[in-house]
Amino acid sequence: MEKTVSRIVTGRLGAFGIAALISGLVQMASAATPTLPDATIDNGGLEPIYHSGLPLPLPRPDIALSYAAIPIKVTPPERRPAIEDILPSSTATLGQMVKQQTGLESGSEAIFSLRSGEGVAKLLRRAGYSAKDIAASINAMATKTSLRSLPIGLKFTVCENGFVFSNRAGRDIYTLRDPDSGWLALTAIRPVESYLTFAHGIIENSIYRAAAASAVPDNALLEYIRIMGFSVDFQREVRPGDAFEMLYERKIDLISGEEIGTQLHYAGLRLSGDQLGFYRFNKDKKGAGWFDKDGNSAARTLIRTPIAGARLSSSFGMRRHPISGYNAMHRGVDFSAPTGTPIIAAGSGTIKKAGWLGSYGRYVQIRHNGTYSTAYAHMSRIAKGITPGARVQQGQVIGYVGSSGRSTGPHLHYEILVNNRKVNPLTVSLPTGEKIDPSLLPVFKRTVGLVNNEVMANGALRYVANDLTLLDE
Ligand SMILES: [Zn+2]
Repeated sequence: MEKTVSRIVTGRLGAFGIAALISGLVQMASAATPTLPDATIDNGGLEPIYHSGLPLPLPRPDIALSYAAIPIKVTPPERRPAIEDILPSSTATLGQMVKQQTGLESGSEAIFSLRSGEGVAKLLRRAGYSAKDIAASINAMATKTSLRSLPIGLKFTVCENGFVFSNRAGRDIYTLRDPDSGWLALTAIRPVESYLTFAHGIIENSIYRAAAASAVPDNALLEYIRIMGFSVDFQREVRPGDAFEMLYERKIDLISGEEIGTQLHYAGLRLSGDQLGFYRFNKDKKGAGWFDKDGNSAARTLIRTPIAGARLSSSFGMRRHPISGYNAMHRGVDFSAPTGTPIIAAGSGTIKKAGWLGSYGRYVQIRHNGTYSTAYAHMSRIAKGITPGARVQQGQVIGYVGSSGRSTGPHLHYEILVNNRKVNPLTVSLPTGEKIDPSLLPVFKRTVGLVNNEVMANGALRYVANDLTLLDE
């Protein structure tokens, strides 16, 4: 019987603008923004105003302030204008934008989907536009997007004085009839609000079930497993009573109410006697990495358990062979899992073998570098594109659990080879990824402090609370 104790806390981004600091990409609404509008609620013609300015970080008490109370003038640093400040915000209805930009009334609105083989012109004809309006409006619209790249099924909301569609997440393209200057087109930003959610839970059985019970979004959970998988063997090291902690961001489209993305920012695990915590950080323009509080990379060259939701069923070493009955050396580890469970590449590299290999059944071997290779056996199916010579990225699905070859039931037989010698995947020491660049360490430490504040505000993590050195670099 599964019993999971878990708690989930969701809050609007704190005054620190923590996620903005972390991702640098967050669009935020001001604190005055109402909660999610329900598309069915008539807001009485009130146009919501979304203000995307990031709040300034709260200053630390200045020592000077403990002297005489002489007024001081503070000039906040000038911020580069964000794209959201330049482009207008999308409105809840097309009519509101028509009115706002042109002063015209919109009349009734209808939705048309782009049909196969149909261009925008044909769609507008269906909507009742005149040939003259079609030509002029498409000319205007073509200044904002390529007419060729519009997918079949794309939805256009059309009224007499304009139409709107979105072919890029978070952006709307409006084409409007201006009574003075003719047809014009503009790009508007869909208002998005970010919520930070803290989830933690006691693990009773599996981390997957515990996290699922907390309604953690799938991609945040998968990211968590990937990050933790470098350091933790979920099968052996996680015990009942251990706890997971996640801080993730949910982005909500305020017009549609839909969730348009999630991003994990903190991955924590409290093991009996050990505490792990990793922070997401944009280490350069190329992307983000995961690091512990001292800036050591969470990533290892290889993942010890390249499968999700599995149970270790046979470890490395001497054992009585389940089929032959003889004692023999087992030079890999077996993870029992249902047929079809995805198997991921333990590290980036090149496929050396992919196909049938005797008692191994369907088998894939990856060469990671001059020293390390990994092998995966008994698959039911090898993933598409996994052929000798193909490049794979760490975490990429390479095949699916099965029972092909000499096997008694669905499981993954996994091997790590060091200089072609098979070693124990669960104990072999693996090189770590790169440390954070020292020049970025102060910024990173600030990120750590903000995340820890956010986590603490949600009532968890004594161990972060104790680590006050992080908070004043
Ligand atoms: Zn095996």
